[in-house]
Amino acid sequence: MSECAAQPQTDPADDQKKINARMAQVKHKICVLSGKGGVGKSTVAVNLAAALSDAGKKVGLLDVDIHGPSVPTMLGLGNTPLSYNAASVDPVYAGNLKVMSVGFLSEDEDNPFIWRGPMKMGVIKQFLGDVEWGELDYLIVDCPPGTGDEPLSICQLIENPDGAVIVTTPQQVAAVDVRKSIKFCEKLSMPVLGIVENMSGFACPKCGEVVDIFHAGGGEKMAADFGIPFLGKLPIDPAIGKACDAGLPFIQSHAASETAQQLRDIIKPILNLQPNLSGATAGCTGSSCSSCSACSPAETNEPQKETVTMKIAIPTAEGKLCMHFGHCQVFTLLDVDPENKTITASEERVPPPHEPGVLPAWLHEQGANMIIAGGMGSRAQGLFLEQNIEVVVGAPAGDPKEVVAAYLAGTLTTGANSCDH
Ligand code: ADP
Repeated sequence: MSECAAQPQTDPADDQKKINARMAQVKHKICVLSGKGGVGKSTVAVNLAAALSDAGKKVGLLDVDIHGPSVPTMLGLGNTPLSYNAASVDPVYAGNLKVMSVGFLSEDEDNPFIWRGPMKMGVIKQFLGDVEWGELDYLIVDCPPGTGDEPLSICQLIENPDGAVIVTTPQQVAAVDVRKSIKFCEKLSMPVLGIVENMSGFACPKCGEVVDIFHAGGGEKMAADFGIPFLGKLPIDPAIGKACDAGLPFIQSHAASETAQQLRDIIKPILNLQPNLSGATAGCTGSSCSSCSACSPAETNEPQKETVTMKIAIPTAEGKLCMHFGHCQVFTLLDVDPENKTITASEERVPPPHEPGVLPAWLHEQGANMIIAGGMGSRAQGLFLEQNIEVVVGAPAGDPKEVVAAYLAGTLTTGANSCDH
């Protein structure tokens, strides 16, 4: 990867081609916008990404909020050094979530991303074109606040995004900023997926009752006036601030809270997004090309439902989940329908002998996109993720079908990772 301070002039058309090729592997691209800073845009972006990841989606979170990159702090990633080679940079992992942020940049001479004003767009282009995002279901982009040149250029680099989530607060709703954000999307022909009214009332930490401090509900009215979806309201909840500071996505650390439920309701329409033509494979003509799943029957006006299939691998010995995945006799491969939460097929296959990197590649060949294991070291987890296989660890030694049924029902209890070396 080229050093920004001495970055050779690159052809903008080549840069764009590179970005388009990376983005062609991403099914849904969503920009999170706000008219002003400090309204909770990054909080919404982080929790949206975490919730989609929890729902079994492959998710990337790109934080290009140049003025206040808070994603690393919110995910407990601090000053994680970037790992890069001549051509690309690896995303940083927060669980299964792939993360890149301008917050990872430093003035360190050895770091190829040197942060200088005029180089900002160059770095952001690199983030879109050079990060090894791989295949993703969603890329959530936390944009700089406002409607100026910076968010404009960033949104323009991403061809045909699915749309924008606009985050606002009750005070901002009355202000001209939200209208500007809506107009901004119109200018870019970017659909508005919806408005989130954050800090809408105060959730009492003792009784949970929500008290309206400012006049709440304006976001809903504005959405109706503009004919755009209203995704929901979130109260000021001190636990959100604490979770952000502790580096934990609130939706995970306070999953049982009322506010987390409100967040889950907010993301529902995004979880159910229809395939976007922009998620087409590279070279898609957008007119029913035969090679591209995103282009399926363009002739019909029926809304296309995304067919999501999952194959879950369970390392198995003596008919039970084997705690050390490298020592199992067979892998049970279970096809599941995540929408109906059912197992549709199951078979056992004998793996090749266990050597580092062999099983992830072999399971990828078998079509697996998730492994549920008892214990697994962090290096092995990284190798599975490289093969786009999501990893769940700490599962009990039960019957593979029962383990998967419990996972689908959301009742799988995971304990300590018994092999974290
Ligand atoms: P932005 O990205 O719009 O600048 P942030 O998401 O960084 O805003 O949020 C600003 C601060 O407000 C953070 O400290 C965050 O923890 C806090 N915050 C955001 N939303 C809420 C909320 N609903 N309740 C309590 N604190 C919140």
